Amino acid sequence: MFIDAHNHLDFFEEQEKLNKALDIIKNDNIITLGCSMDTKSYKFTKSLALKNKNIIPCFGIHPSRAHENFKNLECFDEYIRESKIIGEIGLDYVWVKEKEKYPHMKRVFTYFLEEAKKYNKITNIHTKGAESEIYNYIKKYELKTPIIHWYSGDKDTLKKLLDYGCYFTISVDIGYSKLSKEIVQLLPIDKILTETDGPTSLEWVNGDYGYPNVIKNVVKEISKIKNIQEEEVKGVIENNFKTLIRKEGITL
Ligand SMILES: [Zn+2]
Repeated sequence: MFIDAHNHLDFFEEQEKLNKALDIIKNDNIITLGCSMDTKSYKFTKSLALKNKNIIPCFGIHPSRAHENFKNLECFDEYIRESKIIGEIGLDYVWVKEKEKYPHMKRVFTYFLEEAKKYNKITNIHTKGAESEIYNYIKKYELKTPIIHWYSGDKDTLKKLLDYGCYFTISVDIGYSKLSKEIVQLLPIDKILTETDGPTSLEWVNGDYGYPNVIKNVVKEISKIKNIQEEEVKGVIENNFKTLIRKEGITL
């Protein structure tokens, strides 16, 4: 099986494209963490998961939506409790430009961290431009084995996150980005996971619409960088994911 440890299924907006993506997830056996942006997106992904056992719906409020979701945080408790993995959560000081949104972003993020600690949840974290701050939060809240989504920060913080025990999802810019290549070179293979991050991420990289089978290309590029056979890389990533969830008592 392939592991897509960070996707957004609600980004497949047209029914035809969504159906195609769901078929690929099923036929190519891609275990998919369906991250959410907000409650609406979580409920949508949850409904898809009822018909596709490869989909694991994850509840979170994306940092870019925090300013619309900072009131009545306690309403999120039931979704956090039922989610096997929490995400997408995090901080973003690069794409979110309006500084007045930052206090809301921080409030929502820390609420999720408190909850993740309380319920011992794995987290799927967005760290753009906030890498070392997030490392400090991870330590402060003693988070269970976080998954760091599409890391693009400095190497010192990468090392600290790695020493803490984090896993890292390599995304669709692998093969295109020099930084992502260096990150794969630095990471031990047993801490690597793969992701596609919805159809629009590949579009951002090379203009192509990113169906879930682009995960195969991510595996291929990692295999080239690590100089390990593709099949072996696929097996190791599957094993990494299974080790992570087993350690946290999650069954699929
Ligand atoms: Zn995402």
